[in-house]
Amino acid sequence: MEINLISDTVTKPSQEMLKAMFSAKVGDDVFKQDPTVNAFEKMVADLFGMEAALFFPTGTMANQTAIKLNTNPGDQIICDKWSHIHLYESGGASANSGVNFNLLDGKRGMITAEQVKAGINDPEFYHTPLSKMVGIENTTNKGGGACYEIEELKKIKQVCLDHNLRYHLDGARLWNAMVAKKQHPKQFGALFDTISVCFSKGLGCPIGSVLLSDAETMHRALRIRKIFGGNMRQSGYLAAAGIYALQNNINRLEDDHRRAKELGKQLEQCLWVAKVEPVETNIIVFSVQPQIEDKQVMEQFKQKGIAISLLGKGALRIVTHLDYRQVMHDYVMETLQKMKF
Ligand SMILES: *Cc1c(COP(=O)(O)O)cnc(C)c1O
Repeated sequence: MEINLISDTVTKPSQEMLKAMFSAKVGDDVFKQDPTVNAFEKMVADLFGMEAALFFPTGTMANQTAIKLNTNPGDQIICDKWSHIHLYESGGASANSGVNFNLLDGKRGMITAEQVKAGINDPEFYHTPLSKMVGIENTTNKGGGACYEIEELKKIKQVCLDHNLRYHLDGARLWNAMVAKKQHPKQFGALFDTISVCFSKGLGCPIGSVLLSDAETMHRALRIRKIFGGNMRQSGYLAAAGIYALQNNINRLEDDHRRAKELGKQLEQCLWVAKVEPVETNIIVFSVQPQIEDKQVMEQFKQKGIAISLLGKGALRIVTHLDYRQVMHDYVMETLQKMKF
């Protein structure tokens, strides 16, 4: 049995999803003539109660477009030090938009309104970069799938309103957060200026992200997506996967979360494990006893047919997902019970 737990991006489209893709009605989306893309964008916009949405090939491109929409060169973005937009988008924010970061020392990738407020530069003091955008990540990636309370996000929104800051949500795994915290998309749509969501992670699509905002902003986004090379033609085949995922793959995220929690509990019982970070959604981050090498652990998992990943020194990561079935889970739980170093 080959069990791949390195990320929730490893899922392959199910037979049912493929069927939906094959039967999609398509057209040239660059001329806005693909009915499935148009329907998909409207569906996501309505779900969040936002005016407009645009389909992107990747979450990185959707985030990079949001940064370009929300800032001017020289401006500063305020976000957590572990943010994907800072760490894992290959320096795109500076390359594409000429912006810099004020990185806050948050908890598990999450920041507070108080921290944001303290991190704003005085706009009259023209020597320091102009603070222009706050970037929130929910769930947090490097933070191990942690998710925000709506109350804190509302407080940060107020700080943004008071200081004329744009408010962006990198919601690559927002679906997981909403299921875990029983929140609704409209609660997020009401708060943020721009939101990106991924379909190629927990929702099991082969490709695709969506950026959301008001109609005027999204009209400008069309040009930026073109500049970034993200215009696609008969992308309705991909949007059909997104529609299928919205209708079928959201509620089942609870299974991924339950299995992740069970794995976390089991790891806590293992003598060779030093610490397991709290498991809130589908990501488990853990460290092993100092006398054991991370590489050794990964190797032993590999020998049992289980692939896990290394986030950084002392942080091993397991991610549950749509293609991680109950039989596999039973096997991994059993394997963990027997593992020794
Ligand atoms: C995966 C991810 C993205 C986007 O990644 P792509 O691989 O470009 O789709 C953005 N933000 C976070 C937090 C992510 O986990």
